[in-house]
Amino acid sequence: MPDILPGSPGTLFVVATPVGNLKDITLRAIEVLRSVPLVACEDTRSAGRLLASLDIRGPRFTSLFEHNEQRKVEQLVEHLQGGRDAALISEAGTPTISDPGYRLVARCREVGIPVVPIPGPCAALAALSASGLPTDKFLFLGFPPRKGARLARFLRRLAAPARTGIAYLPARRLEELLGLLAKSAPDARVVLARELTKKFEEFLCGTPTELLAEITAHPRKGECTLLVYRPGERGEDEEEDAGEELPEPDCTGSI
Ligand code: SAM
Repeated sequence: MPDILPGSPGTLFVVATPVGNLKDITLRAIEVLRSVPLVACEDTRSAGRLLASLDIRGPRFTSLFEHNEQRKVEQLVEHLQGGRDAALISEAGTPTISDPGYRLVARCREVGIPVVPIPGPCAALAALSASGLPTDKFLFLGFPPRKGARLARFLRRLAAPARTGIAYLPARRLEELLGLLAKSAPDARVVLARELTKKFEEFLCGTPTELLAEITAHPRKGECTLLVYRPGERGEDEEEDAGEELPEPDCTGSI
């Protein structure tokens, strides 16, 4: 049983914000951000700028990032248990997706605080939806580990046959990852979705070797999402994931 307090708690709204183009904010997101007294965010200054650009000046901000999340969760839960609402936003896109907030949401669920998603942009889904790669089955893997066996395993899963693998990665790692994929999965179809919703949005599609040649000749900067699809047969449901321990969420790409 959740340890619910007397009186009704406030609601935690998990609010998606744009991944580049500010026009992607939703009407519901604006409405919620106007109405809450408190916004939990990674960086209070950039959240302040976002809200100011929407002409929202009411709420107080509190920072919630990977290294203070544990401590902040209890403060936020206390605020919500006092009957006041709060919104959770991240630097861009959907909170908790390779971003902080998972522990807060989990704790709210545990103690019976209502959690309401306000859906909107997410780089992984925007990239997938416009990639031309199969969308019926996909695996989101977040940021790649730095090196070694964990990176090798990540790449195996990213390029597992018959489902689209999705990774977030910094542009400086494009050459390295495409080089590794060119060796381990030369038959894969790869899509690099870069700077989504922004002025220089770009989709590059091809084999790992073709994309590697392009990136080597013309290095790219900016925000990158990489999608990989390898044709082939899959065995009975996702057997290579069996027995996998649930990892702690990684929000930094810095395993
Ligand atoms: N929570 C966010 C979401 O819903 O998309 C993702 C946050 S994660 C810390 C940031 C990573 O998402 C970037 O390093 C990049 O890999 C990817 N990303 C964010 N914005 C992007 C964009 N406009 N175009 C392509 N990839 C993007």
